[in-house]
Amino acid sequence: MNHGLSRRDFLKLAGLASLGMVVPPSVQHLGGGLQGDKKNVLIIVFDALAAYNVSLYGYGRATTPNLTRLANRATVFHNHFAGGNFTTPGTASLLTGTLPWTHRALGFNDPAIASFSDKSIFHAFDDYHRVAYSHNTLVNTLFRQFLGGITEYVPQDELFLFNDGFIRKLFPNDEDTATVGWARAVKRTGGYSYSLFLSQLYEKYRDSKVADAARQYPLGLPSINNDNYFTLEQGVDWLAEKLNELPRPFMGYFHFLPPHFPYKPHRDFVGAFSNDSFQPPSKPEDLFTEGRSNDFLQKWRNVYDEFILHVDSEFARLFDALERSGVLDNTWLVFTSDHGELFERGIWAHSTPTFYQPIVRVPLMIFEPGSQEGREVYEATSAIDLMPTLLHLTGHSIPACVEGRILPPYAAGAARPGQPIYAGPRETQQAYSAADGSHCHARQRQLQIDLFPRLQRIRRGRRACPVVRHSGRLRGT
Ligand SMILES: [Zn+2]
Repeated sequence: MNHGLSRRDFLKLAGLASLGMVVPPSVQHLGGGLQGDKKNVLIIVFDALAAYNVSLYGYGRATTPNLTRLANRATVFHNHFAGGNFTTPGTASLLTGTLPWTHRALGFNDPAIASFSDKSIFHAFDDYHRVAYSHNTLVNTLFRQFLGGITEYVPQDELFLFNDGFIRKLFPNDEDTATVGWARAVKRTGGYSYSLFLSQLYEKYRDSKVADAARQYPLGLPSINNDNYFTLEQGVDWLAEKLNELPRPFMGYFHFLPPHFPYKPHRDFVGAFSNDSFQPPSKPEDLFTEGRSNDFLQKWRNVYDEFILHVDSEFARLFDALERSGVLDNTWLVFTSDHGELFERGIWAHSTPTFYQPIVRVPLMIFEPGSQEGREVYEATSAIDLMPTLLHLTGHSIPACVEGRILPPYAAGAARPGQPIYAGPRETQQAYSAADGSHCHARQRQLQIDLFPRLQRIRRGRRACPVVRHSGRLRGT
């Protein structure tokens, strides 16, 4: 539903406001920092979704027909960069509005430094109902750190095909304990069972439930940590229903694993690209090559692209459900990712020290409440900009620690052409940096000299440099 006010009308009203007129409440959300009726905020993250492989951004395969259709109603950011090259730094930047060298969630499954425990996006929306869910274990580590700011933390296994809810009830305060409890009491991975009878029944029930869903997935069911199966359809159904029930206003952060590996598209999308004529551009092998052959990379690229097609379809289904229920009339909806994925230069996926664009350039689309209009932003933007933008748009103050800026269309004078954009590394990878839309990385020896002392300072808990500047040579994408 449209708010009934064109952008031109808004600009006229804004001019009148400066002459002493009052902006009516119905348009206050467009003015950003003004307090009006409080709009909800909904952030949807699809893990490891590379903008490079999204047809909306010019990819040579039609991977996102629905995003392309919905782009007419969104602000589409064409040069948007994640905060890191894997989940932990990328998501921590989203949730804190800061660069990796500030939040320092650089290692696998790290939280941010302790001073951020009460400074997340959840804390900043302190007058909202704040709900968080993620399929991804690394994101749940961050949620647990920010738990004081989250009104409703939905456990990771809530959206597993077979969740261990009854075990969690026994150990309500500790998911890790619940997992251990489940493994020892029922799965018998500890060597024996506390309940042989229960475990037999439980496994049969579990297997039958999984088998039903598996028929829709010829390549196998999507899963987390081996046998924690899930489907995106289940997640979308759950979320569409959940959002109808949430107290208003709400701020929801939902982080789904697809199209992250294992690439397991629904059968409707399997084979969609396996025999097409698409030929990705040939790229030279990188210094940090893993030695993957072009055939290997092409095989996985095909399935990954099909998984994106699946994600595109499910996001559209969610969008349509939220539109039908009226949620979109009063909600800022964000579509983005935490990092990308690479299928070239002898490298597969994102466990790599390189920072080529497919790894750090991610989609960003922002749907305004009730909007039917689209616009495009080509300026380079960063994941750290999302938190201050959403706070601004809903009339909240922006914490002083936030390093991002309000995104270009939403704040007058916010454009800063040529502003460098940075992304952070996995600490052990000893590589870093993405700048102004270009990729760069440096040789191992150079990094040891340049980066190691900074990481040492981080380990000792001292204030690190807010920005690590790259001294290696720039490379094209
Ligand atoms: Zn991720």
